[in-house]
Amino acid sequence: MQSMVRSIILRRVGYGEADWIVCFFSREHGRMSGIAKSARASQRRFGGALEPGSLVDMRINMRGSSHLVRLEEAAIIWPVNGVLKSLERINAMQRALGLALAFLQEGEANPGKFDLLAARIRSLCENEPIPHEAVAFELEWLARCGFGPTVSCCASCGRKADSPGRWSFDFDRGGLVCAGCGNVTGLRAPLSDAALQGFMSVGDRLVAGESEHAVAARAVLSRYIDHVLGRPLAVR
Ligand SMILES: [Zn+2]
Repeated sequence: MQSMVRSIILRRVGYGEADWIVCFFSREHGRMSGIAKSARASQRRFGGALEPGSLVDMRINMRGSSHLVRLEEAAIIWPVNGVLKSLERINAMQRALGLALAFLQEGEANPGKFDLLAARIRSLCENEPIPHEAVAFELEWLARCGFGPTVSCCASCGRKADSPGRWSFDFDRGGLVCAGCGNVTGLRAPLSDAALQGFMSVGDRLVAGESEHAVAARAVLSRYIDHVLGRPLAVR
């Protein structure tokens, strides 16, 4: 059975002499894997469409119960060329693709996650990455995956995170905790005032320029993601 699927290429690995095994995120069917026969030997059916990060329309052939579909051809909707303009853009895209690979389940359709990832990559094609946007993207991604941390108030007592003080990030509870709630056992990282400001200002475009705040928040968020995964996020 053949069908057309709009997809983001997540990863590809050479197979044999001429084939690619491609992991992709389709808007219609979720994460899938497929084999692109002879795609390394001939550019005819795929051109540059199997480059990780590309947004493509792909004709696939689902064969029986095999989890590996056959990729027939692909046409680029949005190339990743813009991302290649700087190492910072490439690293940011690799991280976004790494998050997708780490959190997406095979065959679980989720257009909301698809659109979020596509928008992130498109933004990196057009602009240099901004730490503030990276934090916003990763928080939104985690929320859509069911792991969104509480960052606007104390995850324990609900106190607004609007006053400096001894705040920390509780990895097991998944969010900020105030000084009064921070004395229970659990894996925590103390939050600098900058990191607290970074979390407080997510979504506030007026303070988007305060990049050292976002950088500090992002470092903590990155540790939280590794904690959720139980291993460091693989980025390649
Ligand atoms: Zn509290």
